[in-house]
Amino acid sequence: KALLQLNGVSKQYGKDTKALSDVTFSVNEGEFVSIIGPSGAGKSTLLRCINRMIDATEGEILFDQTNLNSLGKRDLRKARTKMGMIFQHYNLVNRLSVIENVLHGRLGYKSVLAGMFGVYKEDEKKEALKILQALGLGDQIYKRCDQLSGGQKQRVGIARALIQDPRLLLCDEPIASLDPNASKIIMDHLKTISTSMGITVLVNLHQVDVALAYSDRIIGVSKGKVVYDGPPKNITNEQ
Ligand code: ADP
Ligand code: ADP
Repeated sequence: KALLQLNGVSKQYGKDTKALSDVTFSVNEGEFVSIIGPSGAGKSTLLRCINRMIDATEGEILFDQTNLNSLGKRDLRKARTKMGMIFQHYNLVNRLSVIENVLHGRLGYKSVLAGMFGVYKEDEKKEALKILQALGLGDQIYKRCDQLSGGQKQRVGIARALIQDPRLLLCDEPIASLDPNASKIIMDHLKTISTSMGITVLVNLHQVDVALAYSDRIIGVSKGKVVYDGPPKNITNEQ
């Protein structure tokens, strides 16, 4: 069953840059899909269009059979919480602690409230702790985020997305700033999230070997177009 469907999606920045042109694919519930392609190919734009951080210029995007453009503000916000986003540069609030960053994710876009700690309910704190423990951060929860290693920061990023109980995780170059050790830890967590929690994962990568090792399916993007869509093994043969 398709959780995500893109039909003829294009994105134009200003007059000259066509970052995406006529992108069509669908992703089934539970799939682990890597999007690969060189820098500037449009991978990041693609994820940001899906999550509505930016608007596609043309085409439609259906999430769980619903066109998000048809929703009102409130329903749109709710739908977006079901699409967790993970970033290359983590996008954490550095001066806050690990658990505060995760609870901040729980509040989603009401970030003004996020400074007012104490607004969190006890069961939310318990949930945050449970997620952080599963990610191996149970003993770091009161540390400020700027004291963490890159790999730890990215696990906080994952926890912040997971606390919203997402159905889809959109990961934009999650390991591009990490060493091989930390990269493996992050990719293993994403794989576990996919296989044991049933969350659909869409991950932008520029490391083909990593994509081959972890994905059910690979979508190759070049100059804003889908140039490959299929199982990882065929791509090995082509190269
Ligand atoms: P990738 O993630 O594959 O590196 P991007 O989606 O970041 O690719 O970029 C695709 C193209 O769109 C590039 O030519 C990039 O310069 C351009 N681009 C990305 N973001 C913006 C923006 N906010 N304004 C204008 N051009 C942009
Ligand atoms: P900004 O103030 O830059 O507009 P937002 O309100 O979009 O930021 O996001 C607030 C915080 O939530 C930021 O720290 C950002 O990194 C994070 N964030 C944004 N989108 C998501 C998402 N889909 N899932 C989890 N966290 C997100």
